[in-house]
Amino acid sequence: MTVAVDRAAERPSEPVHLEPGVVTGDDYRALVAACKSGGYALPAVNIVGTNSLNAVMEAAAKNKSDVIIQLSNGGAQFFAGQGMEDALQAKILGAVSAARHAHLLAQHYGICVILHTDHAHKSLIPWVDGMVDHGEAHFKETGRPLFSSHMLDLSEEPLEENLAECARMLKRLAPMGMALEIELGVTGGEEDGVGSEDLEAADNAKLYTQPEEVLRAYEVLSPIGHFTVAASFGNVHGVYKPGNVQLRPEILKNSQALVAERYGLGHNPLDLVFHGGSGSEPEKIAEAVSYGVFKMNIDTDTQFAFAHAIGQYVENNLAAFRHQIDPETDKPYKKQYDPRKWLRLGEQGVAERLTEAFADLGSTGKSVAR
Ligand SMILES: [Zn+2]
Repeated sequence: MTVAVDRAAERPSEPVHLEPGVVTGDDYRALVAACKSGGYALPAVNIVGTNSLNAVMEAAAKNKSDVIIQLSNGGAQFFAGQGMEDALQAKILGAVSAARHAHLLAQHYGICVILHTDHAHKSLIPWVDGMVDHGEAHFKETGRPLFSSHMLDLSEEPLEENLAECARMLKRLAPMGMALEIELGVTGGEEDGVGSEDLEAADNAKLYTQPEEVLRAYEVLSPIGHFTVAASFGNVHGVYKPGNVQLRPEILKNSQALVAERYGLGHNPLDLVFHGGSGSEPEKIAEAVSYGVFKMNIDTDTQFAFAHAIGQYVENNLAAFRHQIDPETDKPYKKQYDPRKWLRLGEQGVAERLTEAFADLGSTGKSVAR
Protein backbone atom coordinates (compact mmCIF):
# COMPACT_ATOMS: atom_id res chain seq x y z
CA MET A 1 0.00 0.00 0.00
CA THR A 2 1.26 3.49 -0.80
CA VAL A 3 0.56 6.15 1.74
CA ALA A 4 0.71 9.86 0.92
CA VAL A 5 3.35 11.46 3.08
CA ASP A 6 2.39 14.83 4.48
CA ARG A 7 5.59 16.68 5.24
CA ALA A 8 3.83 19.88 6.33
CA ALA A 9 4.61 19.10 9.96
CA GLU A 10 8.35 18.99 9.19
CA ARG A 11 8.57 22.41 7.58
CA PRO A 12 9.61 25.28 9.83
CA SER A 13 6.42 27.18 10.61
CA GLU A 14 5.94 30.43 8.71
CA PRO A 15 3.27 32.83 9.92
CA VAL A 16 -0.04 32.03 8.21
CA HIS A 17 -2.44 34.74 7.04
CA LEU A 18 -5.86 33.90 5.64
CA GLU A 19 -8.84 35.90 4.42
CA PRO A 20 -11.46 36.16 7.17
CA GLY A 21 -14.56 34.01 6.73
CA VAL A 22 -15.27 30.30 6.40
CA VAL A 23 -12.04 28.39 5.66
CA THR A 24 -11.92 25.19 3.60
CA GLY A 25 -9.43 23.02 1.73
CA ASP A 26 -5.78 24.11 1.86
CA ASP A 27 -6.70 27.10 4.06
CA TYR A 28 -8.29 24.73 6.57
CA ARG A 29 -5.13 22.61 6.61
CA ALA A 30 -3.03 25.76 7.02
CA LEU A 31 -5.15 26.91 9.97
CA VAL A 32 -4.87 23.50 11.64
CA ALA A 33 -1.09 23.53 11.06
CA ALA A 34 -0.91 27.03 12.60
CA CYS A 35 -2.76 25.78 15.71
CA LYS A 36 -0.47 22.78 16.11
CA SER A 37 2.79 24.66 15.52
CA GLY A 38 1.56 27.51 17.72
CA GLY A 39 0.69 25.12 20.55
CA TYR A 40 -2.97 26.12 20.82
CA ALA A 41 -6.39 24.67 19.93
CA LEU A 42 -9.75 26.12 18.88
CA PRO A 43 -13.05 25.57 20.65
CA ALA A 44 -15.68 23.82 18.50
CA VAL A 45 -18.97 25.23 19.66
CA ASN A 46 -22.33 23.59 19.00
CA ILE A 47 -24.91 26.08 17.78
CA VAL A 48 -28.69 25.70 17.38
CA GLY A 49 -29.79 28.99 15.84
CA THR A 50 -28.64 32.42 14.77
CA ASN A 51 -28.46 33.53 18.42
CA SER A 52 -25.81 31.01 19.33
CA LEU A 53 -24.09 31.21 15.91
CA ASN A 54 -23.73 35.00 16.12
CA ALA A 55 -22.64 34.82 19.76
CA VAL A 56 -19.79 32.48 18.82
CA MET A 57 -18.59 34.79 16.01
CA GLU A 58 -18.87 37.81 18.32
CA ALA A 59 -16.85 36.05 21.03
CA ALA A 60 -14.18 34.98 18.52
CA ALA A 61 -13.90 38.53 17.15
CA LYS A 62 -13.64 40.05 20.65
CA ASN A 63 -10.92 37.58 21.62
CA LYS A 64 -9.13 37.78 18.24
CA SER A 65 -9.31 34.00 17.95
CA ASP A 66 -10.42 31.78 15.11
CA VAL A 67 -13.17 29.35 15.97
CA ILE A 68 -14.95 26.16 14.95
CA ILE A 69 -18.73 26.27 14.61
CA GLN A 70 -20.56 22.97 14.46
CA LEU A 71 -24.06 21.54 14.36
CA SER A 72 -25.29 18.26 15.77
CA ASN A 73 -28.11 16.62 13.83
CA GLY A 74 -30.52 17.83 16.52
CA GLY A 75 -29.06 21.35 16.38
CA ALA A 76 -29.44 21.38 12.59
CA GLN A 77 -33.04 20.20 12.88
CA PHE A 78 -33.72 22.95 15.42
CA PHE A 79 -32.12 25.50 13.09
CA ALA A 80 -34.66 24.55 10.40
CA GLY A 81 -37.50 24.55 12.95
CA GLN A 82 -38.87 21.78 15.14
CA GLY A 83 -42.19 22.17 13.33
CA MET A 84 -40.89 20.85 10.01
CA GLU A 85 -42.62 17.54 9.34
CA ASP A 86 -39.79 15.64 7.66
CA ALA A 87 -37.14 15.35 10.37
CA LEU A 88 -34.34 14.15 8.06
CA GLN A 89 -35.07 16.96 5.61
CA ALA A 90 -35.01 19.44 8.53
CA LYS A 91 -31.63 18.09 9.72
CA ILE A 92 -30.20 18.53 6.21
CA LEU A 93 -31.75 21.91 5.39
CA GLY A 94 -31.10 23.35 8.86
CA ALA A 95 -27.40 22.59 8.44
CA VAL A 96 -27.38 24.12 4.95
CA SER A 97 -29.17 27.22 6.25
CA ALA A 98 -26.68 27.65 9.11
CA ALA A 99 -23.77 27.23 6.69
CA ARG A 100 -25.15 29.88 4.33
CA HIS A 101 -25.66 32.26 7.27
CA ALA A 102 -22.06 31.72 8.37
CA HIS A 103 -20.68 32.16 4.83
CA LEU A 104 -22.51 35.47 4.53
CA LEU A 105 -21.53 36.91 7.92
CA ALA A 106 -18.28 35.34 9.15
CA GLN A 107 -16.00 37.50 6.96
CA HIS A 108 -17.57 40.63 8.47
CA TYR A 109 -16.61 39.52 11.98
CA GLY A 110 -12.99 39.50 10.76
CA ILE A 111 -12.06 36.01 11.98
CA CYS A 112 -11.60 32.58 10.39
CA VAL A 113 -14.38 30.06 10.96
CA ILE A 114 -14.15 26.32 10.45
CA LEU A 115 -17.66 25.01 9.72
CA HIS A 116 -18.30 21.46 10.80
CA THR A 117 -21.04 18.97 11.66
CA ASP A 118 -20.91 16.85 14.80
CA HIS A 119 -21.42 13.14 15.60
CA ALA A 120 -23.26 11.09 12.98
CA HIS A 121 -23.78 7.51 14.04
CA LYS A 122 -24.62 4.74 11.55
CA SER A 123 -28.32 5.68 11.39
CA LEU A 124 -27.37 9.28 10.51
CA ILE A 125 -25.23 8.47 7.47
CA PRO A 126 -28.17 9.60 5.23
CA TRP A 127 -28.01 13.00 7.01
CA VAL A 128 -24.35 13.41 6.08
CA ASP A 129 -24.91 12.19 2.50
CA GLY A 130 -27.81 14.66 2.21
CA MET A 131 -25.59 17.55 3.35
CA VAL A 132 -22.89 16.45 0.91
CA ASP A 133 -25.48 16.48 -1.94
CA HIS A 134 -26.14 20.14 -1.10
CA GLY A 135 -22.41 20.75 -0.68
CA GLU A 136 -21.71 19.38 -4.17
CA ALA A 137 -24.39 21.61 -5.70
CA HIS A 138 -22.93 24.62 -3.85
CA PHE A 139 -19.45 23.64 -5.02
CA LYS A 140 -20.61 23.52 -8.67
CA GLU A 141 -22.09 27.00 -8.30
CA THR A 142 -19.34 28.72 -6.30
CA GLY A 143 -16.21 26.55 -6.43
CA ARG A 144 -16.33 26.23 -2.64
CA PRO A 145 -17.91 23.64 -0.35
CA LEU A 146 -20.61 24.58 2.18
CA PHE A 147 -18.76 23.04 5.14
CA SER A 148 -15.08 22.71 6.00
CA SER A 149 -15.68 19.18 7.24
CA HIS A 150 -18.26 16.65 8.39
CA MET A 151 -18.02 13.93 11.00
CA LEU A 152 -18.87 10.25 10.99
CA ASP A 153 -18.90 8.53 14.37
CA LEU A 154 -18.93 4.81 13.67
CA SER A 155 -16.87 4.00 16.75
CA GLU A 156 -19.51 1.49 17.87
CA GLU A 157 -18.98 -0.53 14.68
CA PRO A 158 -16.05 -2.93 14.13
CA LEU A 159 -12.90 -0.98 13.15
CA GLU A 160 -12.76 -2.15 9.50
CA GLU A 161 -16.45 -1.32 8.94
CA ASN A 162 -15.93 2.08 10.54
CA LEU A 163 -12.97 2.84 8.29
CA ALA A 164 -14.56 1.47 5.10
CA GLU A 165 -17.55 3.78 5.49
CA CYS A 166 -15.28 6.72 6.39
CA ALA A 167 -13.26 5.99 3.23
CA ARG A 168 -16.43 6.06 1.11
CA MET A 169 -17.45 9.40 2.61
CA LEU A 170 -13.98 10.95 2.33
CA LYS A 171 -13.95 10.04 -1.39
CA ARG A 172 -17.01 12.30 -1.78
CA LEU A 173 -15.53 15.11 0.37
CA ALA A 174 -11.91 15.26 -0.80
CA PRO A 175 -12.60 16.49 -4.37
CA MET A 176 -14.31 19.56 -2.84
CA GLY A 177 -11.41 20.18 -0.44
CA MET A 178 -13.43 19.00 2.53
CA ALA A 179 -12.13 16.99 5.46
CA LEU A 180 -13.69 14.18 7.50
CA GLU A 181 -13.55 13.78 11.26
CA ILE A 182 -13.71 10.19 12.47
CA GLU A 183 -14.02 8.61 15.93
CA LEU A 184 -12.13 5.63 17.26
CA GLY A 185 -12.96 3.95 20.54
CA VAL A 186 -16.03 4.81 22.60
CA THR A 187 -16.14 8.20 24.29
CA GLY A 188 -18.43 7.80 27.26
CA GLY A 189 -21.45 10.06 27.57
CA GLU A 190 -25.20 10.46 27.33
CA GLU A 191 -25.31 10.56 23.52
CA ASP A 192 -23.37 7.32 23.36
CA GLY A 193 -25.68 5.61 25.83
CA VAL A 194 -22.70 5.28 28.13
CA GLY A 195 -23.78 6.73 31.47
CA SER A 196 -21.56 7.56 34.41
CA GLU A 197 -22.48 4.30 36.17
CA ASP A 198 -20.98 2.31 33.31
CA LEU A 199 -17.73 4.17 33.66
CA GLU A 200 -16.83 2.94 37.12
CA ALA A 201 -14.64 0.29 35.58
CA ALA A 202 -12.29 2.98 34.34
CA ASP A 203 -9.92 0.50 32.75
CA ASN A 204 -12.63 -0.49 30.27
CA ALA A 205 -10.46 -0.89 27.16
CA LYS A 206 -13.21 0.51 24.90
CA LEU A 207 -12.84 3.91 26.56
CA TYR A 208 -9.24 4.09 25.43
CA THR A 209 -8.35 4.02 21.74
CA GLN A 210 -5.42 1.79 20.91
CA PRO A 211 -2.59 3.48 18.93
CA GLU A 212 -2.73 0.54 16.46
CA GLU A 213 -6.30 1.59 15.56
CA VAL A 214 -5.11 5.12 14.81
CA LEU A 215 -2.32 3.71 12.65
CA ARG A 216 -4.85 1.62 10.72
CA ALA A 217 -7.03 4.72 10.18
CA TYR A 218 -3.99 6.57 8.83
CA GLU A 219 -3.25 3.73 6.39
CA VAL A 220 -6.81 3.62 5.06
CA LEU A 221 -7.68 7.33 4.96
CA SER A 222 -4.55 9.38 4.34
CA PRO A 223 -4.23 8.26 0.68
CA ILE A 224 -7.78 9.60 0.08
CA GLY A 225 -7.76 13.01 1.73
CA HIS A 226 -7.65 15.12 4.87
CA PHE A 227 -9.06 13.45 7.96
CA THR A 228 -9.02 14.28 11.64
CA VAL A 229 -9.34 11.84 14.54
CA ALA A 230 -11.31 11.87 17.76
CA ALA A 231 -9.54 9.27 19.84
CA SER A 232 -10.87 8.21 23.22
CA PHE A 233 -8.49 8.74 26.08
CA GLY A 234 -10.97 8.53 28.93
CA ASN A 235 -12.93 11.63 27.87
CA VAL A 236 -16.64 11.75 28.60
CA HIS A 237 -19.38 13.70 26.80
CA GLY A 238 -21.23 16.05 29.11
CA VAL A 239 -20.36 16.99 32.65
CA TYR A 240 -20.15 14.19 35.19
CA LYS A 241 -18.87 14.02 38.70
CA PRO A 242 -15.09 13.95 38.57
CA GLY A 243 -13.26 10.75 39.44
CA ASN A 244 -15.41 8.37 37.38
CA VAL A 245 -12.89 8.08 34.64
CA GLN A 246 -9.19 8.79 34.28
CA LEU A 247 -8.01 11.03 31.43
CA ARG A 248 -4.95 9.49 29.78
CA PRO A 249 -3.71 11.98 27.14
CA GLU A 250 -0.54 9.88 26.69
CA ILE A 251 -2.70 7.70 24.41
CA LEU A 252 -2.65 10.60 21.94
CA LYS A 253 1.11 10.97 22.29
CA ASN A 254 1.64 7.23 21.70
CA SER A 255 -0.66 7.28 18.64
CA GLN A 256 1.25 10.21 17.11
CA ALA A 257 4.58 8.53 17.83
CA LEU A 258 3.49 5.21 16.28
CA VAL A 259 2.28 6.81 13.02
CA ALA A 260 5.31 9.14 12.82
CA GLU A 261 7.73 6.30 13.36
CA ARG A 262 6.04 3.82 11.01
CA TYR A 263 5.82 6.29 8.11
CA GLY A 264 8.85 8.47 8.78
CA LEU A 265 6.79 11.60 9.47
CA GLY A 266 7.58 14.64 11.60
CA HIS A 267 6.33 15.53 15.08
CA ASN A 268 2.55 15.12 15.69
CA PRO A 269 1.61 14.15 12.11
CA LEU A 270 -2.08 13.56 12.95
CA ASP A 271 -4.74 16.25 13.41
CA LEU A 272 -6.47 15.24 16.64
CA VAL A 273 -9.70 16.47 18.21
CA PHE A 274 -10.88 16.32 21.83
CA HIS A 275 -14.50 15.32 22.48
CA GLY A 276 -16.13 15.54 25.86
CA GLY A 277 -13.82 18.26 27.13
CA SER A 278 -16.36 20.04 29.36
CA GLY A 279 -15.15 20.04 32.95
CA SER A 280 -11.63 18.77 32.16
CA GLU A 281 -8.68 20.02 34.22
CA PRO A 282 -6.72 22.77 32.38
CA GLU A 283 -3.46 20.78 32.75
CA LYS A 284 -4.97 17.77 30.96
CA ILE A 285 -6.27 20.04 28.21
CA ALA A 286 -2.84 21.64 27.78
CA GLU A 287 -1.24 18.20 27.70
CA ALA A 288 -3.68 17.00 25.01
CA VAL A 289 -2.98 20.16 22.94
CA SER A 290 0.76 19.46 23.14
CA TYR A 291 0.06 16.07 21.49
CA GLY A 292 -1.51 17.64 18.39
CA VAL A 293 -5.12 18.34 19.46
CA PHE A 294 -6.32 21.39 17.48
CA LYS A 295 -10.06 21.21 18.30
CA MET A 296 -11.92 20.82 21.55
CA ASN A 297 -15.69 20.45 21.57
CA ILE A 298 -17.69 22.63 23.91
CA ASP A 299 -21.46 22.34 24.17
CA THR A 300 -22.63 21.58 27.70
CA ASP A 301 -20.93 24.63 29.20
CA THR A 302 -22.13 27.12 26.57
CA GLN A 303 -25.67 25.72 26.82
CA PHE A 304 -25.58 26.38 30.55
CA ALA A 305 -24.10 29.86 30.05
CA PHE A 306 -26.96 30.77 27.69
CA ALA A 307 -29.62 29.39 30.05
CA HIS A 308 -28.05 30.79 33.21
CA ALA A 309 -27.97 34.38 31.96
CA ILE A 310 -31.59 34.22 30.84
CA GLY A 311 -32.68 32.42 34.01
CA GLN A 312 -31.25 35.19 36.18
CA TYR A 313 -33.02 37.81 34.10
CA VAL A 314 -36.38 35.99 34.32
CA GLU A 315 -35.97 35.63 38.09
CA ASN A 316 -35.35 39.38 38.44
CA ASN A 317 -38.17 40.37 36.07
CA LEU A 318 -40.78 37.74 36.84
CA ALA A 319 -43.79 40.07 36.51
CA ALA A 320 -42.80 40.97 32.93
CA PHE A 321 -43.08 37.29 31.98
CA ARG A 322 -46.60 37.07 33.48
CA HIS A 323 -48.24 40.35 32.46
CA GLN A 324 -47.93 42.69 29.51
CA ILE A 325 -49.00 45.51 31.84
CA ASP A 326 -48.60 45.31 35.61
CA PRO A 327 -52.10 44.66 37.06
CA GLU A 328 -51.40 46.88 40.09
CA THR A 329 -49.22 49.72 38.82
CA ASP A 330 -50.34 49.74 35.12
CA LYS A 331 -46.66 49.76 34.21
CA PRO A 332 -46.09 48.35 30.68
CA TYR A 333 -43.49 45.58 30.57
CA LYS A 334 -42.81 45.68 26.81
CA LYS A 335 -39.16 46.67 27.28
CA GLN A 336 -38.55 43.74 29.65
CA TYR A 337 -40.24 40.92 27.71
CA ASP A 338 -38.97 41.98 24.28
CA PRO A 339 -37.11 38.78 23.21
CA ARG A 340 -34.13 40.88 22.09
CA LYS A 341 -33.60 41.89 25.72
CA TRP A 342 -33.24 38.39 27.18
CA LEU A 343 -31.93 36.53 24.12
CA ARG A 344 -29.13 39.10 24.01
CA LEU A 345 -28.25 38.22 27.62
CA GLY A 346 -28.06 34.57 26.59
CA GLU A 347 -25.72 35.51 23.72
CA GLN A 348 -23.52 37.50 26.10
CA GLY A 349 -23.46 34.55 28.52
CA VAL A 350 -22.16 32.32 25.72
CA ALA A 351 -19.57 34.92 24.69
CA GLU A 352 -18.30 35.22 28.28
CA ARG A 353 -17.94 31.45 28.66
CA LEU A 354 -16.10 31.30 25.34
CA THR A 355 -13.67 34.01 26.47
CA GLU A 356 -12.58 31.47 29.12
CA ALA A 357 -12.43 28.67 26.55
CA PHE A 358 -10.18 30.67 24.19
CA ALA A 359 -7.87 31.42 27.13
CA ASP A 360 -7.81 27.75 28.29
CA LEU A 361 -6.96 26.58 24.78
CA GLY A 362 -4.37 29.32 24.23
CA SER A 363 -6.05 30.75 21.11
CA THR A 364 -6.74 34.27 22.41
CA GLY A 365 -5.10 36.84 20.11
CA LYS A 366 -3.93 34.15 17.67
CA SER A 367 -6.41 34.65 14.80
CA VAL A 368 -4.69 34.12 11.45
CA ALA A 369 -7.21 36.36 9.68
CA ARG A 370 -5.37 39.19 7.94
ZN1 LIG B 1 -17.27 11.77 20.25
